[in-house]
Amino acid sequence: MTTNSNSITAIDLRSDTVTKPTPAMRQAMFEAEVGDDVYGEDPTVNRLEAMVAELLGKEAALYVSSGTQGNLVAVLAHCGRGDEIVLGDKAHIFRSEQAGAAALGGISFHTVPNQPDGTLDLAQAAQAIRPDNEHFPITTLLCLENTQNSCGGRALPVAYMDAAGDLAHEHGIKLHVDGARLWNAAVALNTSPKRLLQNADTVSVCLSKGLSAPVGSVVAGSAEFIRKARRMRKVAGGGMRQAGMIAAAGVVAVSEMIERLADDHANAKVLAQGLSALDGIEVNADEIETNIVYFDLMRDDITPAQLSNALKERGVLLNPSGGTRMRAVTHHPLTEADMHTALDAFKDALANAAQTANGKAYVYG
Ligand SMILES: *Cc1c(COP(=O)(O)O)cnc(C)c1O
Repeated sequence: MTTNSNSITAIDLRSDTVTKPTPAMRQAMFEAEVGDDVYGEDPTVNRLEAMVAELLGKEAALYVSSGTQGNLVAVLAHCGRGDEIVLGDKAHIFRSEQAGAAALGGISFHTVPNQPDGTLDLAQAAQAIRPDNEHFPITTLLCLENTQNSCGGRALPVAYMDAAGDLAHEHGIKLHVDGARLWNAAVALNTSPKRLLQNADTVSVCLSKGLSAPVGSVVAGSAEFIRKARRMRKVAGGGMRQAGMIAAAGVVAVSEMIERLADDHANAKVLAQGLSALDGIEVNADEIETNIVYFDLMRDDITPAQLSNALKERGVLLNPSGGTRMRAVTHHPLTEADMHTALDAFKDALANAAQTANGKAYVYG
């Protein structure tokens, strides 16, 4: 069960964004030393930025309000108007950020299909990088997402990340990593975030997903890049003042909440294995590497929207994600026992769906 100091709520598998600050975070926020961060004078923000830069193996870092803002300021810092970025067709930057780079920066997207394992085929990515020709836009950036969310939280391995960096650098462009869940990737691959990013120029990481901070992401890269990103953050309305109040939770997040992500991954596996045994649910539990479980509901007696409603009545929250697909995301402080409770709710909801099909009294909006 998800709990905070005030309430007990459902088993909420909609996303790891629903995580709430831990008691240690609330204490750190209460005690946070603050200053005006636009003047660079918030000691807690400065500390968080230094800690994250170190963890990611980059020269400098910048605290931003969200993952979307992190990717936006990174792309704006790398690219000028009319430039083009190469990225996956299932990339969050392409699909789920209102095409902010295009809308606000005049930057265009050149997509390459994401493979089922979350990678881009590097030969296809190379093809997408424009040669020098006055008819073409100028490619300035390759973007990867690690873990790759809509491919099922797949972790892109070290060797692949290294090769992608080489490809970008051979073409004189930069590699940016949307690492909203980079922490999960590092834990799943049993490597360090730093090693995973060794050949990447820049990265954006979230503190408010699995790491459970209430707000915030961090962008990291060279000092020169961060200087530009800081300007872009200001124009994007992201210059925050006594932001140490929230950054304090981020300090706790990166100090205490990374290693435990392994529990979320183990729970996702348990959930996927349980789901794969249910009639009409298709999921390959072997492909679950981190905390995201996509599955298909292949039944004619209940739709994903109906199942979602039926689960809600049984205390489990989970969203349909288009067509037959549904997604469950595990996170702090859900336990293995919660996974079994959720699976029981699935069994009950599906059993009652059959009754619905037989004309009995169950109707799920
Ligand atoms: C969640 C997420 C983001 C950022 O989302 P915000 O809601 O803006 O914090 C970026 N990329 C990926 C892959 C994500 O899953």
